Amino acid sequence: MKKRVLVSGGAGYIGSHVTVELIQAGYDVVVADNLSNCDLTCFEGVKKITGKDDIPFEKIDCCDYDAVDRLFSEFRIDAVIHFAAFKAVGESVAEPLKYYRNNLVSFLNILDASKNHGGCNVLFSSSATVYGETDVLPVTEQSPRQPATSPYGNTKQISEDILRDTVKATAAYGAEVMAGMDRQGPVKGIALRYFNPIGAHPSALIGELPRGVPNNLVPYITQTAIGKRECLSIFGNDYPTPDGTCQRDYIDIVDLAKAHVAAVARMVEGKMKKDYEIFNVGTGRPVSVLELVNAFEKVNGVKLNYKFAPRRAGDVTAIWADPTLAEKELGWKAVRTVEETLASAWAWEKHLAGKA
Ligand code: UDP
Repeated sequence: MKKRVLVSGGAGYIGSHVTVELIQAGYDVVVADNLSNCDLTCFEGVKKITGKDDIPFEKIDCCDYDAVDRLFSEFRIDAVIHFAAFKAVGESVAEPLKYYRNNLVSFLNILDASKNHGGCNVLFSSSATVYGETDVLPVTEQSPRQPATSPYGNTKQISEDILRDTVKATAAYGAEVMAGMDRQGPVKGIALRYFNPIGAHPSALIGELPRGVPNNLVPYITQTAIGKRECLSIFGNDYPTPDGTCQRDYIDIVDLAKAHVAAVARMVEGKMKKDYEIFNVGTGRPVSVLELVNAFEKVNGVKLNYKFAPRRAGDVTAIWADPTLAEKELGWKAVRTVEETLASAWAWEKHLAGKA
């Protein structure tokens, strides 16, 4: 029997790419999304790419425990991947309560339902933001977490801790689930710490769909190139880096999605070495903002209007992953080049503009 994965936030940017890879790897899925930050564009794209018209979609808000509980009663769920969360750093500073309430309550509900329905495997989408500013690069999973610089980052740290504590507390729970009589069972967890996911599916049928002015670099680049924005501001060219602009570890969205499939397989096939594990999901390759802009221009044959602007508050100088542990334990490694990924991002922007 196929294993089923609940993908909360599965209609969004990362969630839709992960749903495609799960289905193509032979999993059944159920997508849950409240569509608060996206529409059904990507979900429709997922159906087209996979050729599956009957993917279960539940329009629920994970902050509603009864709705989450009903989902666990309706489907036999072998693993949950929890994406459903707000993600705008600046907005989280302005509206902390909105972020804490949404991001934490939804995750508490997922964990509670997982525990109450005989136990479950839970994959949490964490972030490299938990490492903060550090001089010791690349960062490994053992690198110390720094105090979060935004409520958004704090929700990632707190959620990791909640998962760790829940796994510990439920380890000894009985796991039998009898007809009509769910028993509390153990929760096992993996936190994936993403670096900077960029790009789109090679089909150009799904990709990032920012609402309003994009906060992230690559959507800002593609929208500038297509003429939706006038000029890209490069935030800071006086950082202590080789070319003065910040360095990040940009990871292709499909590579990132495949890391989730590897992590789910590890959980459902009982291959975890500990009941709670953490993996970096990055390439190990630092790329500066300027290098990324130059690579985008070169691979796509377009000229980008950009200027240097003051530093953006809260940005760290440089961060990139040591991805060794994921390669060793998950058998996963990023394979797409930055150029391939930037070409996919451009193809998606052109698709959106009806120019593809
Ligand atoms: N960045 C930029 N201009 C923009 C958006 C981002 O120069 O319009 C820079 C930002 O300062 C950072 C890098 O691009 O150095 C990546 O930013 P992003 O917001 O995409 O991801 P973050 O690393 O902040 O999570």
